[in-house]
Amino acid sequence: MKLLYELSKEGRNSFQLPTDGIKDYTLCEKRTSHVRLPDVAEIDLHRYYQALSKRVHCIESGFYPLGSCTMKYNPKINDVVASLPGFAEIHPLQDLSTVKGAVEVYELLNRGLCEVTGMDAMSFQPAAGAHGEFTALLAIRAYHHHHSDFARTKVIIPDSAHGTNPASAVMAGFEVVSIPSTPEGFVDIEALKKVVGKDTAALMLTNPNTLGKFEKGIKEITNIIHEHGGLVYYDGANLNAVMGIVRPGDMGFDIVHLNLHKTFSTPHGGGGPGSGPIGCKKILVPFLPKTELPYRCGTEEQFDSVGKVRSFHGNFLVSLRALVYMITLGGKGLRNASEMAVLNANYLYKKLAPLYGETADTICMHEFIVSAESINKEIGVRAIDIAKGMMDKGVHPPTIYFPLIVKEAMMFEPTETESLDTLNEVAEKMKEIIGEAYADPQALHDAPKSTPIGRADEVMAARNLILRYRFH
Ligand SMILES: *Cc1c(COP(=O)(O)O)cnc(C)c1O
Repeated sequence: MKLLYELSKEGRNSFQLPTDGIKDYTLCEKRTSHVRLPDVAEIDLHRYYQALSKRVHCIESGFYPLGSCTMKYNPKINDVVASLPGFAEIHPLQDLSTVKGAVEVYELLNRGLCEVTGMDAMSFQPAAGAHGEFTALLAIRAYHHHHSDFARTKVIIPDSAHGTNPASAVMAGFEVVSIPSTPEGFVDIEALKKVVGKDTAALMLTNPNTLGKFEKGIKEITNIIHEHGGLVYYDGANLNAVMGIVRPGDMGFDIVHLNLHKTFSTPHGGGGPGSGPIGCKKILVPFLPKTELPYRCGTEEQFDSVGKVRSFHGNFLVSLRALVYMITLGGKGLRNASEMAVLNANYLYKKLAPLYGETADTICMHEFIVSAESINKEIGVRAIDIAKGMMDKGVHPPTIYFPLIVKEAMMFEPTETESLDTLNEVAEKMKEIIGEAYADPQALHDAPKSTPIGRADEVMAARNLILRYRFH
């Protein structure tokens, strides 16, 4: 496929300006170098972008089971509402009295998400999940410092946590203490008891964890941390499994982040914008990021706030989509979405586990892992080969090699928006791939064959990133 620059022919363009009636305009500073813009006709421009869009795998083009990402279908009504001029064309510097509707969106969403999480107040400033983690950790530190407790410098994180948890803790200036999982994939409570102490600022728990399992000993875990004076953080990016069923606030957690761009139905995968609001119990509310919005309960005085973590009020239109999603589904609908997400994952797991290797003997939550370890030992076909083979069958690969604690991991998250027919079709394709792999292992090493480029050298691509077009 030719790039726009390669299609360019001098003199072609996509616009016409009137030739008379335009005054001469003198720029105060003239650029001296030539601006290299492509000259293309309007139709060629459209065809170019149309062709590019066809190369993108999106949820509207096919199954997208990328584990840990909740690539669910996003109802279009969310976008219709988000594009209403009264929402889309307002400016954050407008006086609040002129944008009362937008303020009400935050009020309603605050109430709705507090209800879903069992928390007392939310902050909508964080722009994504990891940013929410970081902000919450700042609030946790501000809380300890407010109580003149300066020794709490460590954050305990189970090895089944999402990778962003330790990264956020380090970014926020904490030392990370990792604790192992039991062979069944749950937090090792004995190991936790050994490391908790007066230096514990918090524990971060991803639930369901990255193995797709609902932690067993949550009450015990939150109690242990609280007894030692620490706070407990809930990574709620996997809320799609438990929405309307259990609430972090009821399980003893002090603060939580949500991924609106996963659970609450904003298209993602293209790099944003997202939204990672945090919700907390009353004791932490004074430390939340500052806001000029009047929705927060009892926090007129925010002397102890961690300040601002982002300009203005966060990604408003993502928040708006979340509100539309919640209102259109209602409480029962949210619960039903989670139940279907869990059902779909268990259904697909039961279909794939006999083919690809079981990793769990218990029920999974909204996502599951199969491991290509034994296939690899037998015929030398790895998870990455299977993932590339899936692309040739029009299915987006699952997340592979994550979590790190499972060898040759393939992590599937089908989500609630897929039908039984789609799940059966995908299971059938996965069966075909296995059959082909045993018949001719080399064929999968050569996949994908249907994409513009075949097997990329991923290390080279990461180490030697070339993002600039070079003119000859
Ligand atoms: C996606 C995810 C995150 C990080 O969210 P981002 O918006 O990508 O920063 C954190 N925790 C879990 C469990 C996740 O799935």
